[in-house]
Amino acid sequence: MGHITGLKCKECGKTWPKEPTAACAECWGPLEAVYDLDAVRRTFTRDAIAGRARDLWRYAELLPLDGEPTVGRGTGFTPLLAAPRLGAALGIRDLWVKYDAACHPTLSFKDRLVAVALSKAKEFGLDTVGCASTGNLANAVAAGAAAAGLRAVVLVPVDLEAAKLTATAVYGATLIGVRGNYDRVNRLCTEIADRFGWGLVNVNLRAYYSEGSKTVGFELAEQGGWQLPRHVVCPMAGASLINKVDRAFQQLTELGLVEGRPYSLHGAQATGCAPVVRAWKENLDRLPLVTPSTIVRSLAIGDPADGLTAVATIKRTGGRAEDATDPEVLECMRLLARTEGLFAETAGGTVVAAARRLAKAGTFDDGGRVVLLLTGHGLKTVEALSEKPPFSTVIDGRLEEFEDFWAARGPEGAPAHAQV
Ligand SMILES: *Cc1c(COP(=O)(O)O)cnc(C)c1O
Ligand SMILES: [Zn+2]
Repeated sequence: MGHITGLKCKECGKTWPKEPTAACAECWGPLEAVYDLDAVRRTFTRDAIAGRARDLWRYAELLPLDGEPTVGRGTGFTPLLAAPRLGAALGIRDLWVKYDAACHPTLSFKDRLVAVALSKAKEFGLDTVGCASTGNLANAVAAGAAAAGLRAVVLVPVDLEAAKLTATAVYGATLIGVRGNYDRVNRLCTEIADRFGWGLVNVNLRAYYSEGSKTVGFELAEQGGWQLPRHVVCPMAGASLINKVDRAFQQLTELGLVEGRPYSLHGAQATGCAPVVRAWKENLDRLPLVTPSTIVRSLAIGDPADGLTAVATIKRTGGRAEDATDPEVLECMRLLARTEGLFAETAGGTVVAAARRLAKAGTFDDGGRVVLLLTGHGLKTVEALSEKPPFSTVIDGRLEEFEDFWAARGPEGAPAHAQV
């Protein structure tokens, strides 16, 4: 079980009891879980953790439950993979990827957050949960709620990718399409949480929910042999993940599970929705107003709740922020697939493209380990790549046809690649 003692406002520092609540009732600042690290220390050791089930609950002491987890067994503990062929293409010597496209059960890292949020919702005795989502969270909440026997109400922008809609409705969730962008959906969900008393995971359960993102950081440390990577490139939407990776590294350092070596956290966004990147690049002390326009739907949040904290985290760790245009995103989704055999969604293409720009600028010249966070599966955003069937050719099935096609392929004998 976790050793959470309460919630603390990140703005004014006031502490609050463990309840479903969206923000500090005094200053509207964001809330964060506080732990009794002395209690954590007693059982949270490298050896003890090594003997536990291979899911995110192996880090339960630093997750915000009071009892045993009831949702998300088997979630997390995704592969951390060396990516030498992609590294050669990007000019990065020691490149690795964290492949949350393989996260159980809905193929994005949102499953981690939902495991925590819905376990907490059950502790609170809530019977209805929901979320505002750009897609992946909708999938994860709908699946998690079905497995937990909770009612789910999910609100999304009406024009999301088809796969993300189908992979929400199939679980029996009530799916509401909102004519407007994510920021509109999010505002409505805040009102619904107030009115109906439901557990909306990224609204009034946000302080618990967002703790799930720390498990990415815990795994980077443990799977790296309890050494922190030198560089991590994180996709940013609401910009919680990047801050929680930082928090995870800090907690592990404080507990003595890793050495306190320097690390840099870098942020990636799509050029069509890059408020945090712009705030970092232009040294703004407020986030610029942005109306999202990009194929990278999962990162299309124009008003990221944790955006300013992310800018501070990036600065404090000596990181950088980069954006990637839609054509670069598509190119880098293909590059990743063709060098490493990994199919990540548009958010992954954004991270790879940003890493390429960062590498060109000399960011990784220290030769330290670089990890890219690939947070969702490419099958969720196939329509970003192609509208027509991506065959290299279509034939009736006669050998001569195939021979003609093969003989006519590129001059160096390279197979004629379809324009996927
Ligand atoms: C939600 C999401 C993110 C970003 O997470 P934030 O914590 O909101 O910054 C990144 N990648 C994918 C695929 C997501 O669904
Ligand atoms: Zn406050």
